[in-house]
Amino acid sequence: SPSTADSKIVLITGASSGIGEATARRLAADGHHVVLGARRVDRLEALAGEIRTAGGRADHGELDVTSLDSVRAFAETAHERHGRIDVLVNNAGVMPLSTIDALRVDEWNQMIDVNLRGTLYGIAAVLPHMRARGAGHIVNVASTSAHRVDPTAAVYCATKYAVRALSEGLRQESRDIRVTVVSPGFTRSELTDHGGDPETQAVARAAMEQFAIPASAVADAIGYAIGRPGDVDVNELVVRPTAQG
Ligand code: NDP
Repeated sequence: SPSTADSKIVLITGASSGIGEATARRLAADGHHVVLGARRVDRLEALAGEIRTAGGRADHGELDVTSLDSVRAFAETAHERHGRIDVLVNNAGVMPLSTIDALRVDEWNQMIDVNLRGTLYGIAAVLPHMRARGAGHIVNVASTSAHRVDPTAAVYCATKYAVRALSEGLRQESRDIRVTVVSPGFTRSELTDHGGDPETQAVARAAMEQFAIPASAVADAIGYAIGRPGDVDVNELVVRPTAQG
């Protein structure tokens, strides 16, 4: 575990399952204080308790990333409690897959609201604090779907391409804040359990069960980027199963 000087205050969105949960465990094990956010507070409470029992530091707060007020309240509470925000991991995301012809417009909007607006709201909530200190780190979880488009994933890919684009823009406008994109391929999580066209989701779930990597593999990449010295900005890490095409 690092010295207190290396221990960061890290906010994680979507920490109630999958990659966010694994990232919380990994970063707490690295000696950081993790602040867990998601809608399912019962899960966050249990996870924070487990981390503390294991000797780590964690607290949690209810968070809906589709609400700017909610994201601001989450960040302000953390800032008041800890006096600073060193890192924000924008991880919350949804992937209800379907063809565009299915016109599942509510799910398009949900992907835009969670994956894209949610990431921007996270940045809006922490950026003034980071600029004031002249230091900080934004880690955005994109996807291999931020690099290639596949049928049934057009809108999901659009949101993830957008996350990469806005990350690069923020990086170009920053000389004090590090910006990292972590782009996972198939990773074991609950991502395919929510919404989408049932047949398409079943195919995605089968692929996930066949060769997905554990969420801890993505958490390791996030931990690596955060752990570099302040003058070293790891801009993107793509982490996918060896067997993924
Ligand atoms: P999970 O479904 O396991 O986790 C998604 C997390 O997002 C949950 O903690 C969920 O919490 C949270 N979330 C969803 N909606 C909201 C909301 N409105 N407000 C706050 N939190 C929300 O999936 P993953 O762990 O796989 O997903 C994490 C990220 O990784 C996503 O951005 C996803 O796109 C990305 N990714 C995943 C890949 C994979 O193969 N698994 C591949 C590439 C990228 P709650 O429901 O409690 O709010």
